[in-house]
Amino acid sequence: MNIASVIVDVPAKQTDRPFDYLIPEHLIDVIKPGMRVSVPFGPRKIQGFVVGLKSESQFNKLKKISEPLDLSPVLNPDLLSLGNWLSEQTLSYKISAYQAMLPAALKAKYEKKLKLARDIAKDQLLEELQPLYEKIDTITWEEAKQSGMLSMLQKEAAKGQIDIVYEVKDRVKKKKLKSVHSIMSASELEHYRKSLSPQASKQLKVINYFIENQQPIILRELANLLNISTSVIKELVKKGVLAEQNMEVYRDPFEDRDFARTQPLQLTDEQGKAIAPILSSIEEWRHEVFLLYGVTGSGKTEVYLQSIQNVLEAGKEAIVLVPEISLTPQMVKRFKGRFGDQVAVMHSGLSAGEKYDEWRKIQRKEVKVVVGARSAVFAPFENLGIVIIDEEHETSYKQEENPKYHARDVAIERAFQNNCPVILGSATPSLETFARAKKGVYQLLSLPKRMNNQEMPAVEIIDMREELRSGNRSMFSSALLEKLKDRLEKKEQTVLFLNKRGHSSFVMCRDCGFVMNCPNCDISLTYHRYSQQMKCHYCGHEAGVPSVCPECQSEHIRYFGTGTQKVEEELVKVLPEARVIRMDVDTTSRKGSHEKLLDQFEEGQADILLGTQMIAKGLDFPNITLVGVLSADTMLHLPDFRSSEKTFQLLTQVSGRAGRHELPGEVIIQTYSPEHYSIELASLQDFDRFYEHEMTMRKLHKYTPFYYISLITVSHEQLMKAVSVTETITSYVRSKLTSSAIVLGPVASPIPRINNRYRYQCLIKYKREPELNQALKTVLDQYQQEMSSGGLQIAVDVNPFILM
Ligand code: ADP
Ligand code: ZN
Ligand code: ZN
Repeated sequence: MNIASVIVDVPAKQTDRPFDYLIPEHLIDVIKPGMRVSVPFGPRKIQGFVVGLKSESQFNKLKKISEPLDLSPVLNPDLLSLGNWLSEQTLSYKISAYQAMLPAALKAKYEKKLKLARDIAKDQLLEELQPLYEKIDTITWEEAKQSGMLSMLQKEAAKGQIDIVYEVKDRVKKKKLKSVHSIMSASELEHYRKSLSPQASKQLKVINYFIENQQPIILRELANLLNISTSVIKELVKKGVLAEQNMEVYRDPFEDRDFARTQPLQLTDEQGKAIAPILSSIEEWRHEVFLLYGVTGSGKTEVYLQSIQNVLEAGKEAIVLVPEISLTPQMVKRFKGRFGDQVAVMHSGLSAGEKYDEWRKIQRKEVKVVVGARSAVFAPFENLGIVIIDEEHETSYKQEENPKYHARDVAIERAFQNNCPVILGSATPSLETFARAKKGVYQLLSLPKRMNNQEMPAVEIIDMREELRSGNRSMFSSALLEKLKDRLEKKEQTVLFLNKRGHSSFVMCRDCGFVMNCPNCDISLTYHRYSQQMKCHYCGHEAGVPSVCPECQSEHIRYFGTGTQKVEEELVKVLPEARVIRMDVDTTSRKGSHEKLLDQFEEGQADILLGTQMIAKGLDFPNITLVGVLSADTMLHLPDFRSSEKTFQLLTQVSGRAGRHELPGEVIIQTYSPEHYSIELASLQDFDRFYEHEMTMRKLHKYTPFYYISLITVSHEQLMKAVSVTETITSYVRSKLTSSAIVLGPVASPIPRINNRYRYQCLIKYKREPELNQALKTVLDQYQQEMSSGGLQIAVDVNPFILM
């Protein structure tokens, strides 16, 4: 096997296939599938992924691999085949698919180093390698290559003696702690012990420790362990008995935090019924998709935990996906509490280094469970036993950049390849998922009641038009204000929710209706109160706030819409005694601030938690008895066929925050469209009726789950070019499809211009179109030249979540 098939890092049609390279003699045992290598390609050297090894090639003159870029494969066989599938599904290049599966630290701007693993002293290395690590515990990749001892280093890495770290080249930010180890052997130490006076009892403790333990240990840890000060240990270093070293440690985002261990709870009858089929699927190594359908607080998480426990007992591994937004410390606590150090956590709040460390823990098999956002579905486990997707309806599971995958689809494919179950959990499943469960494609498991049979909170809808008619111009209805006061008196807590999605504070002239728009994009500028600026959320354009209308010179130009800051100011006016915590992008941008604010609220340091989407999920505090939704309908009117579904889901989620424990909960929903079915049925917490109604609408308008949808968006600086390309594409695609497909276009996109580029689209609705995939590929290939020169952009999204 001296030939490697390599996918090279040139994202183009012509290079979207494996190329054969000869493996040089000295690298024959080194190169393995899943490793990254450097290869000559034309005049350059580029990076590539080895996807297979073979002993024959149909080509005669093969170029040689220049060098390996990894000591051990970064993609396991599971992920290599998943990457293939991913590129097929999302119409993206194989190289893009593979890269999407790896942590960002494994990208070019990071420098690779080989360091001694924790607990390893250099004299434990192969003798030949010891000079390399003579003075330091870390050597660079350059030094490793020049040493000519790559294959030896590789063996040590495989044994876990050497660790590979990636550092950002310019901003070195690694974590090092002093460690100590004994220079003497155990018998020499015994000898030395005799020379010590019995009064030196602390030094004796240290000597005794090293007679038992040869491994290096972090200085501070040893001092704690023996209950002595570090100066005692340093004294022995001075005497030449021990030696000091710098040891790198994992950057642990959750360090210093103790997670109280929890035990499995005795399952209720309903939980027992729900978990039984999951457990048999685990036991029988059978792939199956379960929809665990249960209201918030019905005990789904406990079912996840006990399913995982069974997977671990079977010697396998578990992936738990949660939406980024609900990857709260509370959620992490529940998994770390049950499985302790076996859990890795991956979310976007971590630095690239921290993410890489968590990923390495998985790769080195130090953990068996990963809890993470979307991309954790690519966790490099080799023995996957279950994938759980909590809040499966969440839109954040769809990646909006290439490869435009949905984590649910990837999870199901991965579980299929591994013969293991998938649990999709939700109180408000996506229509697609629920429809599949009803058809029996997925197995439906229900947890209809809350734990301890707590009542669902009472929900009241307030018609804000009525409020206005009766003279209340404030953003709080009289009912909400009254209840807010009541909670203040009772010292109970309130969550106030402001739906910001699709809702911004814009500036409008009251006299002529002029709206401040972005000069580059056809969308209104958002008013930022804090910086007193107008900003475009698409291109970043900024402008000052006008004092008179540019159109009619009227002074009655002011901002509309309500930001959290404005609500906070209003609250201070009407309830001066209330203590308010505001949570939005402004107050949570610093690392850890999200958690800190939640902790403060949990500890009762505030009466009201005011926030956007980010407070809708995961909160489980006993003292919350009132939830107020200030404006329920702000996203109902977006040009998106899922807007009713999203509104229903969000309102149901928010309402679920109230009365989760002993105290009963109440919910007030303020809206301008109280008659809309998604608001009415959300207030009744009636998912089943919502499902029926929404399915009728979807069927009528030919949307998912009755039809599949693909969206092609074309953009160009010249309007005519965008139109004509979209026209050509539309008629080509139409010619390839059956008469039952519906091809809508070319039409201007809902946001017709972004950053001075005109946007046109073609929307395809279809049931079964075997030719479509190929047609879309042909389109992309056809325009590849024009696209790579930058003028033209064509984006294809199969099963889009954002239609703008
Ligand atoms: P969900 O994930 O559906 O929102 P949880 O799993 O968080 O529901 O359960 C809600 C509450 O009920 C939690 O406080 C949890 O600890 C508790 N709980 C869950 N299952 C049990 C059980 N079998 N016995 C007692 N308490 C339980
Ligand atoms: Zn005006
Ligand atoms: Zn703009």
